[in-house]
Amino acid sequence: MKPAPFAYAKARSLAHAIELLAGEEARLIAGGQSLIATLNMRLSRPALLIDLNGLDGLDGIALTNGHVEIGALVRHAQAERSPVIARHAPLVGLALPHIGHPAIRNRGTVGGSIAFADPAAELPACLLALGGEVDIAGPQGRRTVKADDFFKDLFETALTPRDVLTAIRIPAARADTRVGFAELARRHGDYAMVGLAACARANGKRLDDVRLAFFGVGATPVRARHAERALAGGDMDAAVGALRADLAPPDDVQASGAVKTHLAGVLLRRVARQLADQGP
Ligand code: FAD
Repeated sequence: MKPAPFAYAKARSLAHAIELLAGEEARLIAGGQSLIATLNMRLSRPALLIDLNGLDGLDGIALTNGHVEIGALVRHAQAERSPVIARHAPLVGLALPHIGHPAIRNRGTVGGSIAFADPAAELPACLLALGGEVDIAGPQGRRTVKADDFFKDLFETALTPRDVLTAIRIPAARADTRVGFAELARRHGDYAMVGLAACARANGKRLDDVRLAFFGVGATPVRARHAERALAGGDMDAAVGALRADLAPPDDVQASGAVKTHLAGVLLRRVARQLADQGP
């Protein structure tokens, strides 16, 4: 199917993009890897597409003040090749190869992925597991929203239709940082049936500040807070059992909710081994 007719404007600056968004039924386009499919299927019929590509200052990856900042227009492939991400944001490095296929990663952007907030997507879960934050520019100026407050509901975030996501920021890994990532998909590159992004701090043989973010199990990425406490207490079986309190995945075309909860437990055991096996 072809998209419904739309007008096109290339934003000359961030301010220009925000100004254009004030019009009726305008949508931003970055990599187009999710948006174009929704246009072609006529799930979305914007009157105006505002192209962010080429805007200055949104495509950098930098280590500043103990944080890794990733600009909204950074392509997945660019992030995959980044030495800053490999060294200082290893969880993101583990997740990126699971996003679609190389052609998709060549065009898709980090900002588009976070803004689109597909509940089965890898990067939103990483952002949540790392306790990151999102920089937003809108008609009232700039603001920063913590990942814990950003993902609201199915494809719904703290972004309003007038906002541009400009960057995400995550704490840089320290010597005691431990990360783990695993997902189950029918084929490599498909959206996950269930996935888990995890981060913790090693304290001798213990794990502190455990953050477990599951994806593919609900309307948003989901923190498994009971399981986090059990894992920090060193009780693996209790952590897996706690997932029944933390997760309530609905049945979908891929699996029943009960199967997904079981698979989440399988992933938790795998990821816990990854967290334990990383030495200094
Ligand atoms: P676009 O498609 O351009 O935009 C997506 C949405 O975000 C739109 O609503 C747009 O208005 C909004 N948006 C974009 N940028 C901004 C911004 N800076 N500020 C505010 N709003 C913005 N993704 C995964 O995570 N995992 C997968 O396994 C996966 N598999 C895929 C398989 C296929 C076959 C395809 C086609 C895509 C797949 N994707 C997957 C999606 C891909 O990662 C997309 O690149 C990503 O979801 C959106 O990024 P984009 O830059 O292409 O955004």
